[in-house]
Amino acid sequence: MFYQPTMMDALSEYDSARYVIFGVLFDGTSSFRPGSRWAPDAMRGVSSNFESYIPFFDIDLADLPIHDAGNLEKYASVDETLTALFYSVEPIVRDGKIPIMLGGEHSLTLPCVKACAGQTGDDFGVVVLDAHFDLREEYGGLKYSHACVSRHIIDEVTANYAAIGIRSGPKEEWDFAKENNILYYTPEDVAEVGIKNVLSEVIEYLECTRIYLSLDMDAIDPSYAPGLGTPEPFGLSAVDVREVIRTLAPMAVGFDVVEISPEYDGGQTAILGTKLMREFIAAHAAGYK
Ligand code: MN
Ligand code: MN
Repeated sequence: MFYQPTMMDALSEYDSARYVIFGVLFDGTSSFRPGSRWAPDAMRGVSSNFESYIPFFDIDLADLPIHDAGNLEKYASVDETLTALFYSVEPIVRDGKIPIMLGGEHSLTLPCVKACAGQTGDDFGVVVLDAHFDLREEYGGLKYSHACVSRHIIDEVTANYAAIGIRSGPKEEWDFAKENNILYYTPEDVAEVGIKNVLSEVIEYLECTRIYLSLDMDAIDPSYAPGLGTPEPFGLSAVDVREVIRTLAPMAVGFDVVEISPEYDGGQTAILGTKLMREFIAAHAAGYK
């Protein structure tokens, strides 16, 4: 018997699904090592590695209504891609489902955040895991570059925003973050106070019950995640990032995993990203039980 390779345990049809996974094969603005366009199918490929049972939550993913919608149609420019993505994600959110976007590069997060914010209202915030501030107004003459996504989230969607894992950016971005009282935690902050305390502070600061959670995989130390577009040493541990996802997933109305560049490793970054996505779904389902 033949079958179409899809995300393991994504056994549900769209109509009955609570979780809708989709890929976006776009890395057109990637500045250093493009290749994140290959990540969604790489993640599907490695997903058969995992048992469907998640012991920590006593949940079997095969029992959850998860749908793999496939990949977004390809467009030439970043603007066309972001527009098409917005109009593809908005109906998923309107149907009461949780969109789970597999990038692709980080610029793709903005339309997903917009679609979720539009359906959620004021009780909404954004948490980004990233090595980079992504607070530039434009990069290389391009407004919607992957290096600018957090700036546009704050300017165009909500200032109810926090970032974890930050350790890279020009001085202007560090100054901008401080002048605008943007809440961020470096890996040193996390090591000092512990990830559970960081998460308590983030939840208290945001003062909302619904968030969008974005995982730029370069938040994680490249020793755990070497297959990245822009690797940055001295990052978060994989265990701490799992804790972020386990804790925040029940609040999330949308989630993404971006910036995996699978050609630069032996598959371990796609494996880790896929595992974290599965943790997200299990944690979200457990939180709503
Ligand atoms: Mn980023
Ligand atoms: Mn980054």
